[in-house]
Amino acid sequence: MKKRITVLGSTGSIGTQTLEVIGNHPGKFELIAITAGKNIDLLIEQAFKYSPLYVVIADETKYRDVYEALSSTPIEVMTGSKSLAEVAGQSDADMVVTAMVGYAGLGPTVEALRAGKDIALANKETLVVAGEYITRLAGQNKSSIIPVDSEHSAIFQCLTGEADNQIEKIILTASGGPFREKTYEQLKNVTKEEALRHPNWCMGDKITIDSATMMNKGLEVIEARWLFNLSSDQIEVIIHPQSVIHSIVQFVDGSMKAQMGMPDMRIPIQYALSYPKRIISDFPRFSFADCPALTFQKPDTMIFRNLELAYDALKKGGNMPCILNAANEIVVEAFLNETVGFLEIPEIIESVMNKMKYIPHPSLEDYSESDHETRRITHELIGN
Ligand code: NDP
Repeated sequence: MKKRITVLGSTGSIGTQTLEVIGNHPGKFELIAITAGKNIDLLIEQAFKYSPLYVVIADETKYRDVYEALSSTPIEVMTGSKSLAEVAGQSDADMVVTAMVGYAGLGPTVEALRAGKDIALANKETLVVAGEYITRLAGQNKSSIIPVDSEHSAIFQCLTGEADNQIEKIILTASGGPFREKTYEQLKNVTKEEALRHPNWCMGDKITIDSATMMNKGLEVIEARWLFNLSSDQIEVIIHPQSVIHSIVQFVDGSMKAQMGMPDMRIPIQYALSYPKRIISDFPRFSFADCPALTFQKPDTMIFRNLELAYDALKKGGNMPCILNAANEIVVEAFLNETVGFLEIPEIIESVMNKMKYIPHPSLEDYSESDHETRRITHELIGN
């Protein structure tokens, strides 16, 4: 039986690599639906190449172009956020890969879980914003959430076969991004071009900036809290510039298990799709002889304050991680538009966290309102 897969955000970095994995294994996977925000050229190309049953273009102004381009095929073309939610919960798929970026990924993930789909989760913002709600929903609907993020895939792989063996802590590795060696002074004038030049990974713009500010690692700490049911003091971060050890679990007996490999997202993507089986790949292999030194250092949270802010949000709980996430999405966008400087990013996020109303036990509607209000206040602070 082939696994039937829907890919939300098929035109992005994770989305395109997911389609590559699916295309490499036609006997194992079948593509049900693909979706994009606005990149219609790539979406149309993917539709012709992979022949899914459904294609969704979120931007409604681009619907006609996609519809006409695919009119000679049996593919059903849909548009708008309602259609995204619809294909996410579509009965034909067994698994939904959430590769959309940002808060926009939350709604379709909720629909997929309500329909009992298994999730290959790349969209970390979903768990950052509403981790408690999402994990409860997954439990109620007997859906599995398989992490795609390389660090969480590493932890997941280390825990496979460990049944109820107790975790003492996990250690998430971080490359440190392009500015790992820079001083606070040197960070004052870094440009977006420099921030977008990640040393090890080729990813979408938002996550690449998050890696440079270390917010990405902060979001991953929150993601790990929900995926593995840990407290914040059980989650450590260590800088590992080579990105070969993807993360580590330390058990109560002091023994540690690490998962290693090339920094290549196709590996955790393929594992999430094929889980619990491992299937053959021809992706490049890591060679110890070519990389004799694996090094580690403590993250500098005085310089990279976002990591500390994420821990603060996690400890506070409630709607605070949602606030952190929304403020971050707006400042990252502003940094990419060159309207805020690199060092202003954590300053603005912190003042928004201090300004927003704290809700200890938010409902799904509270998350939506907190997200909306945080974006408004952040725009106001930035002055746009
Ligand atoms: P990209 O920016 O490359 O791709 C994002 C995808 O989402 C695109 O298909 C985009 O469509 C679509 N999209 C964006 N906004 C909307 C919207 N409002 N409605 C519908 N679709 C939308 O992101 P990445 O692939 O880098 O990241 C995706 C997620 O995976 C993020 O949450 C990221 O944190 C996570 N992740 C990414 C990793 C990576 O290596 N890239 C590693 C680990 C996690 P369009 O192309 O049309 O704009």
